[in-house]
Amino acid sequence: MATKKSNTIKLKFDSARNLAPAPESKSAAKIDPRYDLFINGKFEKPLSKKYFGTINPATEEKLSEVAEANQADVNRAVKAARAAYDNVWKKMPAKERAKYIYRIARMIQERAREFAIIESLDGGKPIRESRDFDVPTAANHFFYYAGWADKLEYAFPNRTTQPLGVAGQIIPWNFPLLMAAWKIAPALATGNTVVLKPAETTPLTALKLAEIIQEADLPPGVVNIITGAGATGAAIVNHPDINKIAFTGSTDVGKIIQRAIAGTNKKATLELGGKAANIIFDDAPLDQAVEGVINGIFFNQGHVCCAGSRLYVQESVFKEVVRKLKDRMETMIVGDPLDKNTDIGAINSRQQLETINKYLKIGQQEGAEMYQSSCSIPRKGFFCRPTIFTNVAQSNRIAQEEIFGPVLAIQSFRTDDEVIEKANNTPFGLSAGVWTDKGSKIFNMTTKLRAGVVWANTFNKFDPTSPFGGYKESGYGREGGLHGLAAYVNIV
Ligand code: ADP
Repeated sequence: MATKKSNTIKLKFDSARNLAPAPESKSAAKIDPRYDLFINGKFEKPLSKKYFGTINPATEEKLSEVAEANQADVNRAVKAARAAYDNVWKKMPAKERAKYIYRIARMIQERAREFAIIESLDGGKPIRESRDFDVPTAANHFFYYAGWADKLEYAFPNRTTQPLGVAGQIIPWNFPLLMAAWKIAPALATGNTVVLKPAETTPLTALKLAEIIQEADLPPGVVNIITGAGATGAAIVNHPDINKIAFTGSTDVGKIIQRAIAGTNKKATLELGGKAANIIFDDAPLDQAVEGVINGIFFNQGHVCCAGSRLYVQESVFKEVVRKLKDRMETMIVGDPLDKNTDIGAINSRQQLETINKYLKIGQQEGAEMYQSSCSIPRKGFFCRPTIFTNVAQSNRIAQEEIFGPVLAIQSFRTDDEVIEKANNTPFGLSAGVWTDKGSKIFNMTTKLRAGVVWANTFNKFDPTSPFGGYKESGYGREGGLHGLAAYVNIV
């Protein structure tokens, strides 16, 4: 009987993995061999005269090269943003500003396929995700904030709002276009101008967005997009003529930024790391919960600050949940990000793969038991099999530190109080998930879990109307919704 069952499962896995390849064609994506800096409405050669390459992490092939902005380039961009703010953007009637933001949203929709392909090529995420999540959600953020631009008096009733001025925005490599949209759309809707820097490993969709901004005829200097690494980011943070820093990235860099702006009158929102607890109670619909856990940790290769990277399962269903998880992991396809069958694409960079592999070793050395799915992975490129650890202690580094990869640490619990204590026992506080049949339990958990977002019987759900952000070392300030507008205005 047992043999028959395992044969059936094996057949199912094989058929899932043996699907004929369904690759998205690259032909719709136009990538130039070299990109300059987008300053004052034009693509300008960098004063640094330096460029660096950006590669496809699935093949390690170079896609293009982009400019490396130095201090003088940052000065140019900030100067353009300041002039556009003083002379054009803050004076423009809000309903006119809204039209530009709508136009950007519509143009992203029109070029959605190109954006999705380039996002997957440059960052390694599966095309299904960039096509169905990143790009449409980015367009939705522009639509949503375009709607608010001329209605700020309703967003902040009986109050007057003033824009802050020039916003310096620094974004990470996990959701490059979406993070650009999260940052640019509310800034423009509230009358600010922008200098944005994408991450060094994923600059291409932000530069494509610059092309759209140029085509949309946005007044020159309202949005400037400059490329570079940490030094360029630091030059933006330290520039005296910037009024607000919006940063999404690691907690370490978030701390550096906090120190750098202490004592200045720059405002900041920081969206940093996470180590979210996903909690399954014994009354939860287990298949649905397992699906949510899979999505919570393996979506975007686990390169998600709100990833559900710690799983707490009530003891009576622990074995069953772990078995179901392993079965489900076996069906996952790891490989070519452009293949529409792919569930887990490429790890974003060699450096990130090394970090993940370091944690896989640490987890085993700490005594946890590692299980990886048996799937094959491509020889070239940066890939990691979906991985879970059981026998994990609360103090283990794999349960405490953000890994930012497809790696889940699983523990059991008996009582509500115990799991609340364990879930909150982390320096982070970005998100959490609760799986239970009981509404009362959900409310009990959501009031006690110290996390900016708590999902109930679902995970990783995003909407432009909903604020997102963290507690503790996960940062402060909110993006999305009305809260996201508040982060870009002085309320008088
Ligand atoms: P990760 O560690 O996940 O790569 P980082 O926090 O290093 O994330 O990067 C997020 C963004 O912050 C990137 O755009 C990166 O270039 C930028 N960055 C890195 N170091 C600094 C710094 N010292 N000041 C400002 N920005 C920085």
